[in-house]
Amino acid sequence: MPILIKTGPSIKMLRTRVYKSILQWSSRDVQFMLGSSSTTRHLNQTSNQKSSSIVQAENDGPVLLDFENSRPFRQQTMKQLMRSWTILKLCSHNFIVDNAEKFFLLGRRVVPSSLFQRIMASTFYGHFTAGSDAQSSKPTIHALHEAGIKTMLMIPIENVFEDAKEKEKAFADNFQSILGCVEMIAELEPRGFSQLKITSLEDIKLYKELNRHLIDFETDHKEPGDWDIGKVASLVKEKKFQELTFSDLSEADSKSFQTLLQRVDAICQAGQEKDIHVMIDAEQTYIQAALGYIILVMQAVYNQNKCSVFNTYQCYRKDTLDKVKADQALGERLSFKIAGKFVRGAYMIEERALAKKNGAEDPINQSYEKTGEMYHACVDYVLPKIKKKDAFFMFATHNEESVEYVTKQLTIHDIDIQEENYCFGQIYGMCDHVSFTLGRYGYRIFKSVPVGTIDDTLLYLTRRAMENKSVLWRTKKERLIILEELKQRGKGNR
Ligand SMILES: Cc1cc2nc3c(=O)[nH]c(=O)nc-3n(C[C@H](O)[C@H](O)[C@H](O)COP(=O)(O)OP(=O)(O)OC[C@H]3O[C@@H](n4cnc5c(N)ncnc54)[C@H](O)[C@@H]3O)c2cc1C
Repeated sequence: MPILIKTGPSIKMLRTRVYKSILQWSSRDVQFMLGSSSTTRHLNQTSNQKSSSIVQAENDGPVLLDFENSRPFRQQTMKQLMRSWTILKLCSHNFIVDNAEKFFLLGRRVVPSSLFQRIMASTFYGHFTAGSDAQSSKPTIHALHEAGIKTMLMIPIENVFEDAKEKEKAFADNFQSILGCVEMIAELEPRGFSQLKITSLEDIKLYKELNRHLIDFETDHKEPGDWDIGKVASLVKEKKFQELTFSDLSEADSKSFQTLLQRVDAICQAGQEKDIHVMIDAEQTYIQAALGYIILVMQAVYNQNKCSVFNTYQCYRKDTLDKVKADQALGERLSFKIAGKFVRGAYMIEERALAKKNGAEDPINQSYEKTGEMYHACVDYVLPKIKKKDAFFMFATHNEESVEYVTKQLTIHDIDIQEENYCFGQIYGMCDHVSFTLGRYGYRIFKSVPVGTIDDTLLYLTRRAMENKSVLWRTKKERLIILEELKQRGKGNR
């Protein structure tokens, strides 16, 4: 007799069990909350005060963001709240994040496929991903809009490793996927962002080789001869890719570089034609000079009148402010506007280990505080340019202090909180209380949202969780705010 697996009831039973264990499990968070009497009093006093969906500043002074007490999760359903709490609790455990990839791969092997898909859809995948395609992502993107949040879309693409078979096909497929992402965001979020890693378009060996020739010019842009950014940009603008020759490169690398520039150019052109911002991620130092160079060439072509192509600056590096200043000077020389996102940086452990192994200077700031100082110094440097509409920057951070720092500086620089040339950025499913609060106060905030099938996104999600471990460790506050929201609902306050 065939064995029937009834997936429906088991999911329901699983869900009920999860909810029950939340109540038991959360008791430690509640104890933490009760233990901090001032926090509790503050929450009770103010939890009913604000009922409109957008908070208005009462005077011209800086708007003080209230991440805890403004009920940032008021628009979430009970199911979403419980799921968020559970996932954040799980992700706060190092063991789970470190081994997530193994768990997912094992689950995919041993659990029947449809059951596995349903478990993922109602847990990790549902928490961190909008949907599998444009159509299924619409409800999530609509819900974010309702909360005053816009979308920066990205299609997870796995790295093509050096020993991969059919590499050329993989690069060509990735190129088509990225063009598809630009199309999708144009449909879902007019004037939104398409986020991508350009390392998915060519062999990592080529980036390393480019980096070797460009590393000395990252902070002054006196690239010699063939590398001159102005000359390369002119040829790219005229689509004369075959005329791009680099005597420092082998013939094969020169050809690959032509193809790479052609692909990145096609993506940036699609972005400009569809009025979409193309946001290019930063990666490891051993290829970052190459990425920065390609982005500057594209900015010289596409950022003449408005900011279309975006770089990423990692503030954990010691030379970040110097790089921003050098890019700005180049922009002034070649008449284009610089644009980018500021992040703290995701590869610190790898960078430090590599520097130690090579006996090289550690490129990373010596402490977390120094990275914060660098972040704020970069904010200070670009705000006057944003004010004059000469630059466009996304402040991508989950750090409440940095978010508050930017909001205060916006006021000091008399920049409207709806000014088009700045925005905040956070990852969907991480520090949502910060994003919802920013949206509620009327600031421009974009969530980086992955769209893709469960199979396509799971490994990407585990990598992203590893890269953002420091953020996932610190979810206690977000979980407390979720519990407080659940408590308010229990008292009948919507
Ligand atoms: C929308 C968005 C896009 C992103 N895109 C990229 C990208 O393209 N490339 C990329 O590399 N990262 C990217 N990140 C990740 C980002 O770099 C950070 O890893 C992550 O956001 C955590 O930093 P934080 O400011 O949010 O939080 P925080 O917890 O305040 O900062 C943690 C970060 O501080 C730095 N840090 C921690 N300890 C030390 C120390 N001892 N010394 C020096 N520095 C230290 C590290 O960078 C660490 O990641 C992105 C993040 C967001 C929100």
